[in-house]
Amino acid sequence: MKTTGEWLNEEIGPRLSDQLEVRGIDRRSFIKFAAAITAAMGLPVGMAGRVMAAIENESARPAVIWLHFQECTGCTESLLRATHPTLETLILDMVSLDYSETLLAAAGHQAEAALADSIQANDGRFILVVEGSVPTADRGNFCKVAGQTPQQMLHRIAPHAAAAIAIGSCASWGGVQSAAPNPTGAVGLAEALKLEGITKADGSALPVINLPGCPASPYNFLQTVLYYLTMQQLPELDVKGRPKFAYGRLIHENCERRPHFDAGRFAKEFGDEGHRKGWCLYKLGCKGPETFANCPAIEFGDVGGNTWPVGIGHPCFGCAEHGVGFHKALHEQADVETVTPPSMFPGVTTEHGGGMTAAAAALAGAVAGGAAVYALGAHDKLKRAEGADTTQQD
Ligand code: SF4
Repeated sequence: MKTTGEWLNEEIGPRLSDQLEVRGIDRRSFIKFAAAITAAMGLPVGMAGRVMAAIENESARPAVIWLHFQECTGCTESLLRATHPTLETLILDMVSLDYSETLLAAAGHQAEAALADSIQANDGRFILVVEGSVPTADRGNFCKVAGQTPQQMLHRIAPHAAAAIAIGSCASWGGVQSAAPNPTGAVGLAEALKLEGITKADGSALPVINLPGCPASPYNFLQTVLYYLTMQQLPELDVKGRPKFAYGRLIHENCERRPHFDAGRFAKEFGDEGHRKGWCLYKLGCKGPETFANCPAIEFGDVGGNTWPVGIGHPCFGCAEHGVGFHKALHEQADVETVTPPSMFPGVTTEHGGGMTAAAAALAGAVAGGAAVYALGAHDKLKRAEGADTTQQD
């Protein structure tokens, strides 16, 4: 029976290898990456070939119009700073980025002409990406681009889009600008479309995919676009409009400090013994128990080494969860939905059978439907091991 690597080699052929070499990406790393990201999208890993084919299919590249409203550009910065395997190259190669106020070489009237041309040429087919919240107070006058408020821009552009992605917490539900007293009346994209009565040109609702996070994970953006390209449909969303493959589980359920929570071992002050030993940060205000996101699996900054807030000793801020991040105080303790460990979790104490092994943790993740996030975790371990193990075959 062929391994996934052998099958992908045959499916993809030499063309991708050439492209990858030009980009300075090792082919073996890329195949591993594709397999992991396919699993992370909740798709069978056997579909990795289709995912890679979707990346290669130049004729299927969707036009993207990327708007910036009230925000810090952190989501774009986060995307551009990703490095493995040159994630920003992948994303920018997969789409035709026709308009982005941050990345456009053009300026002024030329930029506006590029926007108008793309809307006309891709009417009903382009993806609208919005970064930043929409001010509803003072008729939106807190934010203007080329003399237009976000509302005016949305009226002009959104009806012609096929779908919209609200990247980051600001675009998803208002983010930091919506913190009390919310002077600009900041709301997310979906809410703004509703308030303004903006629909697609045929009167149907414009689908909006929310990718909250401050910043949003570039991997979640990549996976969302890849899912759309591969399956020709939008991923399954939860009640808050988030892709279930990325936001289906509480951070608390996949946190590496969870065994300490279950055993009652907590850091009580920054720098105390529990904090130095890596115990649970719940009593320091960690919002992991009420925040749905895949941060423990995909981490941040693309540098490995367990780099996500809890991983480096800071309580989760709840930035991805509406009503938690920027709304609850840092020190305020989270509402805990899962006080006791789920019954399918492996034991966490050594006297009951030797403690939690990696295999048990993986099994627990798979049983609980968390195979996707464990897959990405496994990919991260592969990344770290790559330097030491260059002889192993796929
Ligand atoms: Fe991890 Fe926070 Fe949950 Fe503790 S409370 S296990 S640090 S997510």
